[in-house]
Order: sequence, then structure tokens, then C-alpha cells
Amino acid sequence: MAETAKTHEFRAEVRKVLNILTNSLYTNREIFLRELISNASDALDKLRFRINRGENPTVADLPLEIRITLDKDKKTLTIADIGLGMTEAELADNLGTIARSGSEHFLADLASAEPQEGEDAKADASNIIGRFGVGFYSVFMVAEKVTVTSRPAFVPEGGDNAAHVWTSDGLGTFTLERVEDAEPKRGTVIVAHLKENALEFAEKYRIDSVIRSHSAFVPFPVFVDGEQANTQPALWREPKTSVTQEQYASFYKSLTYDGKDPLDVQHISVDVPVQFSALLFIPSTAQDFFGQDQELWGLDLYTRRVLIQHKNKDLLPEYLGFMKGVVDAEDLPLNISRETLQENALLRKIQQVLVKQTLSKLEKMAKDETEKYDEFWRLHGRVFKLSYRDYANHDRVCALMRFTSSAMPDTETGKEALTSFDSYMERAKEGQKTFWYVAAPNREAARLSPHMERFRKKGLEVLFLLDPVDEFLMENLGKYKEWDFKSIETAADDALKDFADQEESEKEKTPPLSAEDSTTFDHLLGLIKDILGERVKNVVVSHRLADSPAVLVSPDGMTSSMEKIMRVMQKDESLPVRNMEVNRDHPLLRNMLRVYKANKEDPFLREMTETLFDACLLLDGYVKDPQLVAARTRALLEKSAGWYTEVMKY
Ligand code: ADP
Ligand code: MG
Repeated sequence: MAETAKTHEFRAEVRKVLNILTNSLYTNREIFLRELISNASDALDKLRFRINRGENPTVADLPLEIRITLDKDKKTLTIADIGLGMTEAELADNLGTIARSGSEHFLADLASAEPQEGEDAKADASNIIGRFGVGFYSVFMVAEKVTVTSRPAFVPEGGDNAAHVWTSDGLGTFTLERVEDAEPKRGTVIVAHLKENALEFAEKYRIDSVIRSHSAFVPFPVFVDGEQANTQPALWREPKTSVTQEQYASFYKSLTYDGKDPLDVQHISVDVPVQFSALLFIPSTAQDFFGQDQELWGLDLYTRRVLIQHKNKDLLPEYLGFMKGVVDAEDLPLNISRETLQENALLRKIQQVLVKQTLSKLEKMAKDETEKYDEFWRLHGRVFKLSYRDYANHDRVCALMRFTSSAMPDTETGKEALTSFDSYMERAKEGQKTFWYVAAPNREAARLSPHMERFRKKGLEVLFLLDPVDEFLMENLGKYKEWDFKSIETAADDALKDFADQEESEKEKTPPLSAEDSTTFDHLLGLIKDILGERVKNVVVSHRLADSPAVLVSPDGMTSSMEKIMRVMQKDESLPVRNMEVNRDHPLLRNMLRVYKANKEDPFLREMTETLFDACLLLDGYVKDPQLVAARTRALLEKSAGWYTEVMKY
């Protein structure tokens, strides 16, 4: 070592960090390069700032760039920037002490994670390092010796701008030495002498790939052995007017590996209350958000073009989790740990802005580009429905929800025509204050629900809930603009009394029963109840049916689909016991009454009752004994075929 070299001890806390870094086997150690590149980029940034302010560096007119050179024979990786540089004192201070939040957190975390007995201390440390970088010192994960030669870009007060070399093996000490006439003319050159087990970092393809994944958007060109490695501009930092749709699309594809263009892009740049820019995409492919793609959501978080975290989940509420993109926050420390990130008030503020802007965007799309909005809803509506939990934006998210309904025209399955709550309200009857809905697997089934009949008669629109989660959603929405949400199945007998029948039914109205027949009918109901026994709670006359003979209604107001979901969850395979409501004016019931009046004991009454009950269960999706149902249907068909040929005189 030259005589002029002065030896310095590292501060105690630095020794601790270094000790762990040099000794831990570290799976994610490639991030050392991210740290060195971002330091170089910071140094260039600071220089540019001072030049723009009118200061003159000792050497001007050098291109602002970062150069990495690899030497397999010498086993070195060299990174050079012609940025601000450091004086002797700055070298000693900046690279000899810990004044940075990252390393402090690192030590604090490490202290709190003392390994338990039997646990591998090293594995544990590397786990902690894996969660965040520790700045410059991380180079000692891959290097057994490091030299930093630096020449300040400006002549320091009371000194000259001579270059100094800082050298260390990352153990207990470092040396500092003044060097004359050495490169660089300005800025810093760092040579990492690679450890035997880190020679991969002398390979160009490896370095290129590390840069692609961690430093692709650094604002200065990074050359590796003379070839630029970061060719993608950080689009989100560009002025909106200068970015083309093609650029957005190709950026989106490289970000997501999605082959299709995004449905929409949002380019956001905000100064208050937080300074950040963002690029958010709505994919035009749906994801299995609730299944296997569950962990894939989140935005990539950058600070000043350097990636901090992939798939950060604190920047968006879950219900906007279908969106892809990046957020670049101005004021986040690069080495911030995940734990600290989560508590970070900055991220919460960013989230608020993103939610607000996204809702505005969707509102605008819903208004100006209805078809595109419907397309959005079909792709991502299912995830968006989780917004029922966003109480702060309740009315706004409700206004963005879409469902099909009895008033919507029939279209292709999967492309059902959609309505908003607001347009439903516009079509509603005078005095209506309820969004009526029915859950069913498809539009056809919804229309066939016996509960639909009196709504149809009154001309009241009913929302069709085709997604199994929709009923839960409705129950959780509470109210929208003072209107409440109710299932037509749970509508009380007199719920619709204020609404006039729309058109007189074309069919002849069945004449009402005489007082005597009324009483006999009640006895018939008693017989039906006896036949069905424990399978029904009660058999009563219905006020909700127009065209169907009978329907099953839950006495506790639960809808049939909800009941079914509960039963599946509780693994309950028994059939729900409900009230059977029968339509006294239906020809089927009138004929049963005739048979009953003639002969109470006629076995045909039992056959009809059983089959009627089967049909009611089928309508709700229950088939308990398919063999029995089929046998009964066959027997009945056989009989009616006989009667038919007789009546028709064939
Ligand atoms: P941080 O970048 O978070 O401050 P680092 O450990 O990465 O922490 O770096 C410590 C300090 O060393 C930096 O703040 C900077 O002052 C100085 N430094 C590191 N690399 C360079 C460089 N290439 N040029 C100028 N200064 C540098
Ligand atoms: Mg740094």
C-alpha cells in the first residue's frame, strides 16, 4: 500500500452491516447493481441540477451517462459516472458511516429478529436483506475488494478537486489515498473485485438482465461494455402530449406479457398533495382474480425511475386490482422496507388520488363511451363489485355498477344488455323507492321465476342477478340515493299495492270461487299439506302468482339462491322447508278442486300434489331423487297420453 494511504476504521454499525453482507449467502444479491446504478444516477442528477442553477463544473461538456465495464479475466465489474463526485472528506463520511434510513432499518430489523435456537442465523439475515437493499455496502455481497476513485465536479472551498481512492475489503477498515492525474476527470469510478462465487456478474448477459429488471428506467443511459442496456424510456415521466397510443400499448405489453392492447390507459401526473406520476392500464383480458391469479395484482412502485417493489398492493384498493401499471413517487427513500412502506402515509395519499382519478375516468367512459364501458364491466365488474366496502365513495361506485334486467333486450349470452341503477330509476314507476332484483343463472331462468309474475303484471322492472356474488353485493349496498335493494322473492304480499296493473290480462279472468268452494279449497290445502307432510311448512293461497300454479317461499325472507349458497357452505344436503303458495285461480288448482269435491280419496290428488311439488323444487334447482321424479312424470304422462287420445278421438 502506498505510504500516503490513510487507514480508517469503519463505524461500529457499518461493521455490523458489512459483516452480515459479506458472510450471508444471499439469493437476491443482484440488487447491489441497482444500488450502484441509482447512486450514479443520483450523482448525475445532482450535477445537472447545479449546472442548471448556473454553476460551472471544472470539466464541462461531458455526456451525462453511466458506463459499466466487465473483465472476466481480472474478475472485475467497473461502474463509472461523471456526476458530482466526492471529496476526500465526503468519501470518508458517505462510505464510512451510516447516515441512511435503509441501513438503520436493516439493523433494527435484524436486532428484532434474533434467530431462535436451532434456526440458521445466516439464512435469517439473508431473509431480511432480501426485503430491502442496504445501499452502497451491498456491493460487498459480491466483491471481496472494492475501490472507489472519485473526483469532485466542483472545487471545494479551501481545497482542490484532486481525486482520492477509497479502498476496502469490507472487513474492519478502509483506506483513503490521494491520487494525481488519475481518471476520472470528474465523478466516480467504482471497481468491484468479484468473489469467486459471484463471477456471474462479470457476464454481460447477466448484467443486462439485472438492469432490465431493476434499473430499466434510470433517466441516464447505462452502457454495458459500450452497449446501452436501458433503452425503454420511463413513459410515465414523459409529458402526456408526447406519448403515442402505440407507445402506451407496447409499454403495457412489456409490463404484463399480455398479447392484447389494453382497453384503456390513464396517464397521471400529480403535484399536490403528493408528487408522483403513474401509468395505469385497464387490461382487455379478464383475470381469475379470485382464483389462481389472486397474488398477481398490484402496481410496480418506483421512486425516481428506480424500482422499489413489484406488485405493491397498498397503492390500490382491491376492487381496482384488475388494473396494471406503475407508480413513481418522488419522495420515497430507495431502501425503504416493505413494513415501512405499508405504514407510509405517502402511499395512502397516492391511493386516494388514484381512486379518485380512476373513478372519474370510469364515469367519463360510462357517459361518453357506453359500449366500451359495458365491455369493461363484463371483464372486470366482478372485481369492481368489491367496492361495496368503499364507504367513502359509496354513491360513486354504485353509479358505476351494471346489471341486466327485465327491461333490457335479449342479446347473446355473456353479452347481456346492461343497465345502471340510475337508468333503472328513470324507468321506474311513480312512487317506487326500491330496486327489485331476482337471482338466477341466466335471463331465461330469471324470467321464468314465479315471483316475476306480479312484477310483470304491474310493469315493474326487475334486475336480473346472474353472478352468484350479486345477492351478497345487494345486501351490502344498503341504499343508493335513498332507494333500497330488495329481492322479489321476499316482497311482502302488499308490497306492490300502490302500483296499478298494467294491462288487463288477455285471457278470460277466472271467475272467483263461491263462498262454499272457498271453504272446500281450504280443505284441499289441508290435504296437500298432509300429503307433503314435513317437506313444507305451510300450504297457503298465493297473491303473487298470475300464470304459475305454485311456488315455494322461504318463511324467514331468505331468497332461494342465498339459501342454496348457505347450504353448500354448511354442507347441508337436506332440502329447505318452506311455505308452498298455490294459485287458486290457476286451471290446475281449479281441476284439483273438482276432483276433490267428487272424491277426497282419489289417488290422483296425491299424484298431482307430488308432481307439483317436484316442479317447484326443480325451479329452485333442487333435485333430490331424480329417479323418483322421473318415475312420477312418466306415470303421469302415460295416463295423460291415454286421456288425450280418448278426448281427441284419435
Ligand atoms: P443513499 O444512496 O441512500 O444515500 P448509499 O449507501 O447508496 O446510500 O450511498 C451513500 C452516499 O454515498 C450517498 O448518499 C452519496 O452521498 C455517496 N455516493 C455513493 N455513490 C456515489 C457516486 N457514484 N457519486 C457520488 N456520491 C456517491
Ligand atoms: Mg444509494
